[in-house]
Amino acid sequence: MTIKVAIIGSGPSGFYTADSLLKSGQDVEVDIIDRLPTPFGLIRGGVAPDHQKTKKVARAYEKTALNEKVQYFGNVDVGTNVTIEELRKTHDAVVLAVGAPTDRKLGIPGDDKIGVFGSADFVGWYNGHPDFTNLDPNLDVSSVAIVGVGNVAIDAARVLVKTPAEMAETDIAEHASVAVQKSPLTDVYMFGRRGPIEAKFTNVELREMGKLENCLPVIDPNQLPESVTGDWSERDQRLKERNLATMREFLEVEPTNKGKKVHFKFFANPVEVLGDEKVEGLKVEKTLVEGGRAIGTGEFYTIDCGLVVAAIGYYSIPIEGVPFDLNNGIVIHDDGRVEDGVYAVGWIKRGPTGVIGTNKPDGEIAAKQILEDINSSTKAGRNELNSLLAERNVRIVNYEDWQKIEKAEVAAAIGQAPRKKFVNIQDMLAVLD
Ligand code: NAP
Repeated sequence: MTIKVAIIGSGPSGFYTADSLLKSGQDVEVDIIDRLPTPFGLIRGGVAPDHQKTKKVARAYEKTALNEKVQYFGNVDVGTNVTIEELRKTHDAVVLAVGAPTDRKLGIPGDDKIGVFGSADFVGWYNGHPDFTNLDPNLDVSSVAIVGVGNVAIDAARVLVKTPAEMAETDIAEHASVAVQKSPLTDVYMFGRRGPIEAKFTNVELREMGKLENCLPVIDPNQLPESVTGDWSERDQRLKERNLATMREFLEVEPTNKGKKVHFKFFANPVEVLGDEKVEGLKVEKTLVEGGRAIGTGEFYTIDCGLVVAAIGYYSIPIEGVPFDLNNGIVIHDDGRVEDGVYAVGWIKRGPTGVIGTNKPDGEIAAKQILEDINSSTKAGRNELNSLLAERNVRIVNYEDWQKIEKAEVAAAIGQAPRKKFVNIQDMLAVLD
């Protein structure tokens, strides 16, 4: 009696769930559904294009995808081509692994001006995600403000200031590469509403900012405390001490021959985006940190900038027919159990935090719960899903199709780049016709 599982979303949390189901040794059939033809979610569309080593984790996911018990259903939009209700009828378990594809909103006056982007859109644009191919941010500007001091903020800053040589071995989308190379950008400002100790970036990512060919990291030494104080766990204390040491090292970076600067501006809470229709500047309020919270001082300053990227965290989209907690941007669940036969993993379960590996335990938990909860199956599974989609003329992109698309991307690569990404769905499908 085969247990039929449909996983919606082919990012890390979806693949770790599939892998855990396979490793259980139980009789399972796993269908991984994704609205894009391309698998791997944020590995392809979120991880920075110059972090190719990180993207190699997709090789492990490929092994899972090629397992005979697994079928990849790319180019299938749950909600449009098939509903969750239908999947609950065809499969014993439905796993929501849909991530957090949109942005938290800045929520300050002027945040709707032309030239303000959320990081999900901006990162999607430079990574060639089909949803953001036409974003067209105007990089004909000398300075950019990035709000937030997390890893996504660092990624966006780095992609904007790296030289063509530093980006040669990346798979940045061609449109983004051209725009960045043509840009007269000299200054990127990163704003943290709290201090350097509270910043969310991790040390490996921070350290990279001190090793850039043509960019100097700039920090006001007066914003760096003597030591890390506060009520941190031992691990956090160590990580924060490392970050502080790295920021101190930035003060020593030789400024010669560096044409660009990334300014780390701490204790600065953006309060207004300035300009008429388009962004012309950002007004920030100086802050103090008390009890871990940013408190406004009533003192303000402004910087000129032509673009604002809000890298303040991602947000999940409510799913029709599934209970959703709007405040926290996650589905309502009990340790991943959402409703009978419906489970959640990854960012739709936990919110947008953690690294790729954080999704592994989620997958293990979901697989265990599914196998505990379901001990007999009456569902038709894959066959019925295939029939439903065939009736609706949906062009399913299976894993072999994706491999053809990938082969075409690799064949089109220029120079040392690993691939030249297709940035719209028609071009991907054209490879298959
Ligand atoms: P994040 O780590 O939560 O950082 C968000 C940043 O935005 C924080 O500095 C936060 O400040 C700030 N912020 C939030 N709301 C704000 C507001 N209204 N006004 C001003 N600032 C605000 O989120 P993320 O950078 O999007 O990253 C998401 C997850 O992906 C993280 O777990 C990250 O580590 C992971 N990631 C990892 C890598 C990597 O390993 N290389 C790369 C990219 C992403 P407060 O702290 O004051 O709230």
